Order: sequence, then structure tokens, then C-alpha cells
Amino acid sequence: MSESESAREPLAWRLRAIVGEQNVLESEPMSEHTTFRVGGPADLYVIPEDAGEVRDVLRACDEDGVERFVLGRGSDLLVSDEGYRGVIVAVADGLVGVTVDGAEMTCEAGVDLREASEMACELGLSGLEFACGIPGSVGGACFMNAGAYGGCVADVLKSVRVVSPDGSIDTLGVDELELGYRRSRVASEGLVVLSATFALEKGDPEKIRATMDDLMRRREEKQPLELPSAGSTFKRPEGHFAGKLIMDAGLMGYQVGGAAVSRKHAGFVVNLGGATSADVHAVIEHVQDEVERQFGVRLEPEVRFLG
Ligand SMILES: Cc1cc2nc3c(=O)[nH]c(=O)nc-3n(C[C@H](O)[C@H](O)[C@H](O)COP(=O)(O)OP(=O)(O)OC[C@H]3O[C@@H](n4cnc5c(N)ncnc54)[C@H](O)[C@@H]3O)c2cc1C
Repeated sequence: MSESESAREPLAWRLRAIVGEQNVLESEPMSEHTTFRVGGPADLYVIPEDAGEVRDVLRACDEDGVERFVLGRGSDLLVSDEGYRGVIVAVADGLVGVTVDGAEMTCEAGVDLREASEMACELGLSGLEFACGIPGSVGGACFMNAGAYGGCVADVLKSVRVVSPDGSIDTLGVDELELGYRRSRVASEGLVVLSATFALEKGDPEKIRATMDDLMRRREEKQPLELPSAGSTFKRPEGHFAGKLIMDAGLMGYQVGGAAVSRKHAGFVVNLGGATSADVHAVIEHVQDEVERQFGVRLEPEVRFLG
């Protein structure tokens, strides 16, 4: 047991009392919980299974002064090779319920967006078609205001249930969330999403399916979905497209170790196999420097860094 792990032992016992022995993992490799498939071990990896457990886990970490990070499906995340010296609160592993009331669909934070989209289609509910190829969780999607092909979470979200930093559980309407391009109050104020209610519309399942099939086809044609990545590495800079700038800078295929700028879509950094987090960082930094040198635009990562 490392020094930081033994320092965590009293907290680990407290967390086991909250979520059960089987839901507290030690030295858990984060490469298994991120779509990039890179990242070293987290000291503690905790899986709460309901709202009360999420709140109690957060409170225990905060009272012990131990850093904690709320994990969704790890599809927008680059964890360092050294891992994370704190507690991963794996909301997406335990909160996966869905309820439907007329055209309203309430998904717990861990529900996979693609599954939510699929379920809505099967129920003849329109509005989540845009989400059919986004491999994130509902919680992560609210955090990022995830979107694609002209649609985004803000268009269909009605409300979210959150744990606030003071430990209270509140329901916030979409207008209170300040959703913008890849930003939200969830992110700026450290709210933890427990569930989200989407206000959808009755639609023809065949039309909904056709739209989803079309979006998936467009994704498969343009994106390197066969390789691990975290989707678009950079945010869209004002007045430009990140992928075009990277391509014009001659960086397609630029490689460090096992990480490279995709040859299929320059906006994606991919893991060609065996990449380390340091490799991915090196590619990202080189791309930022080179694009800035050539075009005077500093690309801002969309991917979030941990550890
Ligand atoms: C192949 C591929 C394609 C993609 N395409 C798109 C796309 O078209 N559009 C798009 O927007 N994104 C896309 N992404 C990126 C990613 O899927 C989204 O940003 C998604 O919303 C991230 O959700 P997550 O659950 O994986 O979050 P994570 O990566 O686990 O976490 C991201 C951030 O969200 C926070 N978070 C997660 N859950 C919660 C919660 N319950 N409460 C509070 N905060 C939380 C985390 O703390 C972290 O800061 C793509 C990714 C891949 C790999």
C-alpha cells in the first residue's frame, strides 16, 4: 500500500460503510474507465448506487479534506499516467435508472446517452436523436451541454436534480443552468447531477430511427470510431474549426509514442495502441503550439485533464 493509500484508509472504511465493501475499489486503473484507455490508478474508486449515497460519499470526502472527482463514462477525460490521488465518485456505474411519464423521460446521471436516445426512439419520442453517437453519461452531458449535428442538451432538457456544494439536493430548471457551448452552472459551481428530465415530443419511430441512422452514418464516415479517443480534443475556436486549422497546419498523423492526430479527422487525438497519457499530452501541446504559431489561434482543449 502506498503512502497516500494508507493515509486514505480511515476514509475508505467510512466509504465502505456508505456504499458497501464491494463498491469501494483501491488502486483502480483509470485506463479501464476512460474511452482514451489511458490513465494510472485512482487511490479509491467508489460506486454509489442512489442519490443519498452520492451525497454521503461527497460529504465524507469533503469532511476528510480529500480531493474527489465525479466520473461519468470517462469519454471526455485524460487521466495522467500517475493516476489520481483522491476519490473517484463513479456516478455513472451505479445510477442508471430511467422513468418515462408521457413525453418526459427522466434518466439517472449514469445512463449512457446513446441508450437514452435509443430508448426514446423505441418509445416514439423525438428530441434525443442528436445524442445517438455520444458515448457519455447523462450527467456528463449536462456538465458539458453535450451536442452534435445542430442539437444539444439545452434544447431538450427540462430540469436536473443535483447535489449542491453545501450537500443539499435540489431540482434546477433548465433556465437556471446557464447552458452554453460546452459550459454550464454544473461545471462552474461544482454541482453533481443525480438525474435529468428531458422534455421530448411524440414522433414517428421510423422517422426518428432514420434520423439516428443518418447521424451515425455521418459519424462513422468522418470520425475514427475504431480507435480509442475522447472525441473532439479541442473546443471550436470562435470563427474557425479546430480540425481544419490542425489539418492546414500539416499535423494530420502527427504522432508521439502511441498517440496521434487522427488521419481520418484532425480534430481527434487517438490512441493507436499502448499510448501513455504523456504521449497524448505531448500531441495536444504540440498541436496547440503549432496552430498558434501558424495561425495565431490558441486551441483550447475540450478534453478535461485529471491527475
Ligand atoms: C467517439 C466520441 C465521440 C464524441 N462525440 C461527442 C459529440 O458529438 N458531442 C459532444 O458534446 N461530446 C462528444 N464526445 C465527448 C463526450 O462523450 C461528452 O463530452 C460527454 O458529455 C462526456 O460525458 P461523460 O459521462 O463521459 O463525462 P466524463 O468524461 O466522465 O467527465 C467529463 C466531465 O463531466 C463531469 N461529470 C460527469 N458526470 C457528472 C455528474 N453526474 N455530475 C456532475 N459532473 C459530472 C466530470 O466531473 C468531468 O469534469 C465524444 C466522445 C467520444 C469518445
